[in-house]
Amino acid sequence: MNKKGLLIVVSGPSGAGKGTICKEILSRRKDIFVSISATTRQPRKGEVDGINYFFKTREEFERMIDEEAFIEYAEVYNNLYGTPKEYVLDKLNQGENCLLEIDIQGALQVKKRYPEGVYIFILPPSMKELKSRIIGRGSETPESLERRFSSAFEEIEFVNQYDYYIINDEVSTATDTMESIIDAERCKVIEDIEEIVAMFKEEI
Ligand code: 5GP
Repeated sequence: MNKKGLLIVVSGPSGAGKGTICKEILSRRKDIFVSISATTRQPRKGEVDGINYFFKTREEFERMIDEEAFIEYAEVYNNLYGTPKEYVLDKLNQGENCLLEIDIQGALQVKKRYPEGVYIFILPPSMKELKSRIIGRGSETPESLERRFSSAFEEIEFVNQYDYYIINDEVSTATDTMESIIDAERCKVIEDIEEIVAMFKEEI
């Protein structure tokens, strides 16, 4: 049976912990592949080109837009971010599950094209906790901290566009919940159910 992979799209405000949960799920599950985004943002300390992001100049990124190399792209905090199309589509066609950790604008673009994906929104336990997590990261200037924090208030309103939400109180519990969602989605009765029924009938 040639079942397509599941597209898993994860968003949430900065500091909600979506990156940590995604990292944890990838270390637990060898059946999930992550898409590496392209960005015009400068690498942070410790970030490696081709592992965390494909770091691009604005010109390079714009060329990729012209070449229709992205499934989606968006401007986030004055930088461009985009999901390279080829890797994701190849993985899904090969029956592999593919994870995108992207912002809300991008997720909504993908949802229009690919409604059969699963869309998950990560929430912090509280706004106070969110702020202290962003400060704790130590990578923001006071202005960018304020910008990320005020965006978080607006972003949370978009939770109703997603299929599931997860409150990230504790990373391992939040990751357990994400695994349950993915496992349930993989068992959903969808259009290929006839193939599944036929497969069992063949055995009789
Ligand atoms: P950061 O600069 O903290 O790595 O990421 C900033 C925001 O950009 C996060 O919300 C992250 O999920 C989002 N982001 C990362 N990659 C992509 C992408 O390929 N497309 C879109 N639309 N957003 C992305």
